[in-house]
Amino acid sequence: MTQSESLFERAQRVIPGGVNSPVRAFKGVGGTPRFIDRAAGAYIWDADGQRYIDYVGSWGPMILGHAHPEVIEAVREQAGRGLSYGAPTERECDLAEQLCACVPSMEQVRLVNSGTEATMTAIRLARGATGRDAIVKFEGNYHGHADSLLVKAGSGALTLGVPSSPGIPADIAQHTLTATYNDLDSVRALFDARGQDIAGIIVEPIAGNMNFVKPDDGFLQGLRALCDAHGSVLIFDEVMTGFRVALGGAQAVYGVRPDLTTLGKVIGGGLPVGALGGRRDLMEQLAPTGPVYQAGTLSGNPLATAAGLATLRLLQAPGFYDDLSERSSRLVQGLVTHAAGAGVALRGDWQGGMFGLYMTDRPVRSYDDVVACDADGFGRFFHAMLDRGVYLAPSAFEAGFVSASHSRDDIDQTIEAAREAWTA
Ligand code: PMP
Repeated sequence: MTQSESLFERAQRVIPGGVNSPVRAFKGVGGTPRFIDRAAGAYIWDADGQRYIDYVGSWGPMILGHAHPEVIEAVREQAGRGLSYGAPTERECDLAEQLCACVPSMEQVRLVNSGTEATMTAIRLARGATGRDAIVKFEGNYHGHADSLLVKAGSGALTLGVPSSPGIPADIAQHTLTATYNDLDSVRALFDARGQDIAGIIVEPIAGNMNFVKPDDGFLQGLRALCDAHGSVLIFDEVMTGFRVALGGAQAVYGVRPDLTTLGKVIGGGLPVGALGGRRDLMEQLAPTGPVYQAGTLSGNPLATAAGLATLRLLQAPGFYDDLSERSSRLVQGLVTHAAGAGVALRGDWQGGMFGLYMTDRPVRSYDDVVACDADGFGRFFHAMLDRGVYLAPSAFEAGFVSASHSRDDIDQTIEAAREAWTA
């Protein structure tokens, strides 16, 4: 029995499913999750000492690679001065200023502890500001696990076959209207029917929780126009795409300005952080300037802000995102080319340090296209790669992540592992 197997047995006795977040359990691909012992740069090592080239990166945060010396030093230095004060600090100003400077639609920002908190608060603020209850979300988009948002959700909810979770009162779920990603007509129909009731739209501007799907030309612009016409709030959930696809997020790539933006992952450098920012007049409706309540014991945590600031400093180096994008393109194009050579149906796409691989020979633009891909084939590919020291996300419905630490050699080794897997 391997260490991971024995740890998984132990974990399952005291932790539901042995994991603290469902997708980690390998339900989408079968087998025993690897228990991780340590990580550095592009690599993680499991409890049995096996090294993997890591394309999960803690599901997005580790854009510099693991245990970057400058980030670790920032955390170490702060730890010596206390872990949490529950009172304001200069670093919170620094981080807020940096976020607002990099993401111009954000005039003010509030720090929270997770992406879930950020989106939950964004929804509450949109409702509070408009006095309306309904929100529009897209099937297969995932915005964390708040009640209003676990309706036709992506990510683990999709992998585990429970996109709409039990435990959410029908009275709450009825206010969440769902539309089809990249189908503006489906959104228009909801606004035609209920425009006066719709507080806002929440959308992943590049979808990363139903594999990886870019917005069609005009889709995000169309959402902006519908919100403007109906006095609704446009929320871009950039928890995954923020500082990942470009310094200014997907909104910078597509040139659309949302009213509110949610962030997480990269901005905490691997420590628990989320953020909600946007138009000043909206943000000032949050307590204590306004009546919409939101709070957090550990919000703006000194360790998290230290790690976040160190990370943001490094990714503002000239050419950082061009370089990251070049790594993603080398990986995806290499895999797709070799798959074609081996007669395997595989497509791929990327933006900045984020990518998607699809087991299909058809274009992937929608939720239906993603669900139609060969999930069993992905499971076999996942395990063949794991056996060869490459750690992909353990589900066909997740995006992948490349870091600045992935060298050409790491990427070429990954492509070689795939070539072996396909010709074995
Ligand atoms: N929004 C998006 C787009 C996400 O990808 C995620 C997490 N993967 C969340 C929200 C929730 O963030 P967290 O897991 O930090 O609560």
